Amino acid sequence: MRSTRISAVLVALCILCLSPVLFADTTGDSATSIDTSVIDSAGQIRFAASTEEALYPLSAERYEKLVSYSRFNNIWRFVSFFVGIAILSILLFSGLSARFRDWASRVKVKFFAVWVFLILIMVADYLLGFPVHVYRRFFVEQQYGFLNQTFIQWWGEDLLGLLIMLILSIIPMWFFYWLVNRIRKWWLVFSIGAVPLAIFLIVIAPVLISPLFNDFVPLEDKALEAKILALADKAGIEGSDVFQVNASKQSSKLNAYVTGLFGTKRIVLYDTLIKNFTHDEIRFIMAHEMGHYVKHHIWWGLLVAILFIAGSLWLVSRTIQPVITRFRHRFRFDRLGDMASLPLVLIFLSVIMFVFQPITNGLSRVMERQADTYGMEMSGVSGETAATAFDKLSVFNLSDPDPHPIIEFWFYDHPSLKKRIAFVRGYQRW
Ligand SMILES: [Zn+2]
Repeated sequence: MRSTRISAVLVALCILCLSPVLFADTTGDSATSIDTSVIDSAGQIRFAASTEEALYPLSAERYEKLVSYSRFNNIWRFVSFFVGIAILSILLFSGLSARFRDWASRVKVKFFAVWVFLILIMVADYLLGFPVHVYRRFFVEQQYGFLNQTFIQWWGEDLLGLLIMLILSIIPMWFFYWLVNRIRKWWLVFSIGAVPLAIFLIVIAPVLISPLFNDFVPLEDKALEAKILALADKAGIEGSDVFQVNASKQSSKLNAYVTGLFGTKRIVLYDTLIKNFTHDEIRFIMAHEMGHYVKHHIWWGLLVAILFIAGSLWLVSRTIQPVITRFRHRFRFDRLGDMASLPLVLIFLSVIMFVFQPITNGLSRVMERQADTYGMEMSGVSGETAATAFDKLSVFNLSDPDPHPIIEFWFYDHPSLKKRIAFVRGYQRW
């Protein structure tokens, strides 16, 4: 799912911790590629005997790529954070945000005035961030051999993502300012109101949003489909459909997920995964994904998200007014209830999310470990098969199997692959 930074933060108001559940992830983690390993139990990196065409096992050349991609991503976590803050600051200090509010205020119906303002601010944010965004999402991905699109194809989908965000963000944005101007405990009411909205997004995303970017068709390999359905049956996930998605259209990265709620529940495999993994490896990965579903991680994720949103907004409510008062002449607004304050709210939320992400990531890692345990128990594959699956994910996605402990603690929503491999190898069934 492509999105702009500003809209990501906006929608994150409602679906903060849910984005992996919503759009992708869980074993492969397409966003951060941190799910896998090339280190065996003895701490040895598995290398290919020769450096031929095949990506797996890891060639010395590909190992160099893996190291450089991981280093780049570690630096980029900070770069993207500061670039995001810088762009929002430009919108504030240049008075652009206030000017957009003035223009939007000419629209008489309040709801549409808010929407016009939101569109202006998101488009401005997109344009200001465009060079950095293109560099990271197009050129870097292309340089590491992931991208399977021309620039025009890539940009077209990127704009489609922006359009979807322009539509999805209006409800939380309008609701936010409506509450701020009426209710003292707006942060609390907003958090509660975000629950039905987040559930709505989880329900519609697999059937209305994801199909805009990719084709979802019934799994072509019927033998594999039978195996996955047998697993789902054993896991008690009744009435689910198994789809394969042409994810290779965009990127050669691998992933799989179980998503949706109620009638939109579905099991999805990337075509890139089907092509490169054995049936047993896929069974382990799908059992892991089903573990998330069976253990109600969507609902736990939602609970964590709501508590996190409530805490973050409470912090905003307590700290933002002095900043507004201090810079009111530059900003050209003097209270939070003025929609021109949106970029400032987003700066506060970005900082809070950045600082407190070890908490949400730590909880996510606990859920991942549960899903790995479930995957081992349910699939019945050997530890070595599961280890090979992780190993392949690392090699194909260029994920660092053994990051610095601080990087893992702060940024990883999955345990490091080295730990996951050691875990599945040492796993004892009861
Ligand atoms: Zn997972």
